[in-house]
Amino acid sequence: MEKTIAVLGSTGSIGTQTLEVVRENGDIRVAALAAGRNIDLLEKQIREFSPLLAAVWEEEDAKVLRDRVRDLDVRVVSGMEGLLEMARIPQAQILVTAIVGMIGIRPTMAAIEAGKDIALANKETLVTAGHLIMPLAKKHGVRILPVDSEHSAIFQVLHGEEPRSIRKLLITASGGPFRGKKRQELKNVRVEDALKHPNWSMGQKITIDSATLVNKGLEVMEARWLFNVGLEDIQVVVQPKSIIHSMVEFVDGAVLAQLGTPDMKLPIQYALYYPQRRYLPGERLDFSALRQISFEEPDEETFRGLALARDAAERGGSMPTVFNAANERAVAKFLRREISFLDIYTIIEEAMERHQVIAHPALEEILETEAKTYEWIESRWKH
Ligand code: NAD
Ligand code: MG
Repeated sequence: MEKTIAVLGSTGSIGTQTLEVVRENGDIRVAALAAGRNIDLLEKQIREFSPLLAAVWEEEDAKVLRDRVRDLDVRVVSGMEGLLEMARIPQAQILVTAIVGMIGIRPTMAAIEAGKDIALANKETLVTAGHLIMPLAKKHGVRILPVDSEHSAIFQVLHGEEPRSIRKLLITASGGPFRGKKRQELKNVRVEDALKHPNWSMGQKITIDSATLVNKGLEVMEARWLFNVGLEDIQVVVQPKSIIHSMVEFVDGAVLAQLGTPDMKLPIQYALYYPQRRYLPGERLDFSALRQISFEEPDEETFRGLALARDAAERGGSMPTVFNAANERAVAKFLRREISFLDIYTIIEEAMERHQVIAHPALEEILETEAKTYEWIESRWKH
C-alpha cells in the first residue's frame, strides 16, 4: 500500500531531510505540510510534493502564500487551528513531527487521536507531555516511531527483543563544540562558536542544546517515555565522533549498538518504512580508516544541562515543562545575543527553583506552566 504522510515543520533541518527521503524513494505521498515563516521554501515544496493542505503560523503569511499558489489545488491555513487541521488530515497515516519546541504538543495529540502513527523528532513534546502522549498512543493503537538518532538506534536494537530483557540504555553524546572546555572558558563564547557542531548540521535551537548538554538531558527524558525505562537505568556516554548512535545493555550482559556515519536520513527513513529497511545512498563506515572509537564520561559539572534535566525528571510532573520552557526561552535570548552562554543554565535553574510541581499536569496545566515560565523569565531577564 502506498504511504501518505504529513510533515509538521517541513522547512527545517528534519523537515527538508524527510522530504529528501520521500523524493529519493518515490513511493510516499505528502498530504500536508506545515511551516513557520519560510514561505519561499514552502511554496517550492508545495509545487514539488502537491499536498492538499499547507499550514503556516501567521495569517499574513498564509494570505501571501494563498495568492502565490492560486494555480494549484492546495488549501492554505494558519495558526494553531491550521496546525491541528494538518495534523488530523484524513489522507495521512503518519505525522512527522519536525517542528521545534513544545508548540508541537497539541498537533501531536490531535494526530494520535485521529489514529495516525507519529514519526517523532520533536522531543520537547515528549519531554513535557510524555505522561499524556504515551497512554494516548496506546489507547488509539498508534505507534510512536523515534526519529532522534539515539532513540532510533535503541529502537533498531530492540527490534525483536522483549522489553523485560533490557538492563539499561546507553545514550551516546558527542559532547558538542565545547567538549573539554571548563566553566571559565565558556563565559564569553559567542553564538557562532556554539553553532559549530562537530558532527551534525541541525536547526539552531538543537545545536545550542547540544553545546549546553541540555539536548542530552532532553533525550534522557525522551528515552524514558519511549522505552519505559527508569531514569537510573539510562546512562549517557560521550563518544565524540558520533559513530555509535546508542546502545542497549541486556540482562545477560550483552550490549547491542547501532553504528553508522552520522546521517539523519537513516533514522527518518527507518521511521517512515518501519519495520522495512530500504537502500539509503551515502557514505558507509570504513573501519580501516576509523581505527578507533573512544569514550569519555560527560562533564556534568561544566555542562549542567544534563544534571538539571535529571533533576527535573526526578521531580517529575510539571517540572520537565519548566526545564524545557525555560531552556526554549533562554536559547532564544542567547541566539539574539541578549544573554551569555552560561546564563542559559542560570535561567533554567532559577525557573525550576521557584516552581511548585503539579504532579500529573493535564494539557491545560502544561501550557499554563509554560506561559508562566515565559512570563517570569521576561520580567526577571528584561532586555
Ligand atoms: P529547525 O529549526 O531546523 O526546523 C523547525 C521547523 O519547524 C521549521 O520548518 C519551522 O518553520 C517550523 N516551525 C517553527 N515554528 C513553527 C510554528 N509556529 N508553526 C509552524 N511551523 C513552525 O529544527 P530541526 O533541527 O529540524 O528540529 C526539529 C525538531 O527535531 C526539534 O525538536 C529537534 O530537537 C528535533 N531533532 C532534530 C535533529 C536534527 O538533526 N536537526 C535531530 C534530532 C532531533
Ligand atoms: Mg539526538
